[in-house]
Amino acid sequence: MSDFKENILKGRVALITGGATGIGKEIARTLGKHGARIVITSRKQENLDAARKEFEAEGIKCLALSSDVRKPELVEQVIAAAIKEYGSLNIVVNCAAGMFPAPIEGMSYNGFKVVVDIDLLGTYNVTKAAFTAYLKEHGGCIVNITAPFEHWGVSSLAHVAAAKAGVESLTRTCAVEWAPLGIRVNSVAPGFIAETEGVKRFGESMDIPDKSLKGTRQDMANAVLFLVSDSARFINGVCIRVDGGATIDLLKMPVV
Ligand code: NAP
Repeated sequence: MSDFKENILKGRVALITGGATGIGKEIARTLGKHGARIVITSRKQENLDAARKEFEAEGIKCLALSSDVRKPELVEQVIAAAIKEYGSLNIVVNCAAGMFPAPIEGMSYNGFKVVVDIDLLGTYNVTKAAFTAYLKEHGGCIVNITAPFEHWGVSSLAHVAAAKAGVESLTRTCAVEWAPLGIRVNSVAPGFIAETEGVKRFGESMDIPDKSLKGTRQDMANAVLFLVSDSARFINGVCIRVDGGATIDLLKMPVV
């Protein structure tokens, strides 16, 4: 749970892609616990159903709709269904992503493309569809979940690093284009977050130092909650790195 007041998102509707597992699930739960009605989407209906049941048991109103962010027509259907059910769509969190660690030499052409398709093009598809269907007329907030890789070389994650750098750029462009319409667009860049699929997969190939694994899914959710709250009303086009300082730690000193 966060330290923010309950019900600060009362009356709002939030769509979270990748919201049935890992960081996205904690974001969905946290926005829901603070009063938002939520919509979660990803490919596997069984994960969506399990998450929805958990949320409903906690008193959170949840729609769980299967789609693939790579397919604009499916994304449009999810957004239309959410607006039909709830009457609005105020918050979009783009968290869906794919990843498998591999050096460039061992990565196929298609492997690189798949990650860029999900992370970058998927974020664009959801953002554009939500803008067209609702945000353009009513304003709102978008938060993109990226990674703190934009200015670094990241061995074995060429595809993810390139895609997330693209999402950071997209975040800033959407922020300036849409500020006049009352839409804020920001990003949250997690470091290594304990008990997630991302770290499990990366950890199998890399030795992640224990000190870098102090971040929790709730830490990510709290950053998103702040950005979509009215307390962040003048924050637009920024990236909040939530990594304890680990990724700027050139000398490998302890993180918070
Ligand atoms: P995760 O549990 O695997 O979350 C990724 C989600 O995206 C899954 O729910 C997956 O569900 C969904 N997804 C994948 N492809 C999709 C598609 N084509 N269409 C719709 N949904 C799709 O991993 P996580 O580690 O929590 O990562 C969550 C986010 O944090 C990602 O954006 C990741 O890049 C970012 N991140 C994580 C870390 C970390 O330490 N874990 C670090 C930096 C950044 P389906 O397979 O059912 O579709």
